[in-house]
Amino acid sequence: MVRTALCSGDQKEEMEEYKDYMIRAVAANAQIRAFAVTARDLTETARKAHNTSPIATAALGRAMSGALMMADMLKGPRDLLTIQIDGDGPLQGLVVTADNQGHVKGYVKNTNVILPPNEQGHLNVGGAIGRGTLTVIRDMNLKDPYIGQIPLVTGEIAEDLTAYYAQSEQIPSSVGLGVLMNKENTVRRAGGFVVQLMPFADDEVISRLENNIRKISSVTSILEEDPRPEHLLDFVLEGFDIQITSKEDVSFFCNCSRERFERGLILLGKEELESIIADGEDIELACQFCSKKYKYTTEEVKKLLSRAKNEKS
Ligand code: ZN
Repeated sequence: MVRTALCSGDQKEEMEEYKDYMIRAVAANAQIRAFAVTARDLTETARKAHNTSPIATAALGRAMSGALMMADMLKGPRDLLTIQIDGDGPLQGLVVTADNQGHVKGYVKNTNVILPPNEQGHLNVGGAIGRGTLTVIRDMNLKDPYIGQIPLVTGEIAEDLTAYYAQSEQIPSSVGLGVLMNKENTVRRAGGFVVQLMPFADDEVISRLENNIRKISSVTSILEEDPRPEHLLDFVLEGFDIQITSKEDVSFFCNCSRERFERGLILLGKEELESIIADGEDIELACQFCSKKYKYTTEEVKKLLSRAKNEKS
């Protein structure tokens, strides 16, 4: 892989030891369910695709990690989960979409936000996002998707997703997410966890779990010790019997294609296509989710125009 060639000598060894993956677990006789993911490679892929600043990369990596775990709760192989954040901060918001096969894609609206670190000395994701709303869209291939929306709590994303579960789905949950950058602005660590209490959880289990969560101050410092998601759950579920029920590879993946963009062009309509042809210049379209570019010559647009005419008649 190219990434190993980019690493300095002392990092090389640890960087080769794992790939991105996600685990799912139950604990305390299934009174608790938990998810954890390590997402360094996919966050780095997104960073390269969109050329994002460190804060933008952190926001994107946190949101993608959260979306992967939330999408893992969906049942159908074609179901999709989208997290949309709209904020009044300089990042202007982000959109990420994951399926339950471990694929995620996403983008931030302003890729080059730079802010001073926050009071804890961390990347100021909350400041970059600002105040606004968190929307979660679960598309389960029914007539209408399920949409839940809450006001942002901190804009740090993990706290916002925790609040989303409490307010919109009435599931007591705790979400932890983190992205740590290398000095040269590549992604060093990324990932997180989601832990949820089942309705029949007893008080002792609840208080022990709350106590565990309280002790976790930084997801990335745990990932620095050991980047595997199992290690995150060792902290989150300390003192419980943990049963890992699934393990799945996760990756940045966009399903855009030349055909999809052609359909989009045809949908622009006859007049729009005629005006593109009249300009006489090739056009280039970019996918919002992965920044891949698609070029069309005037000749190709003419063909699409005739397809548009045929479809109309
Ligand atoms: Zn794409």
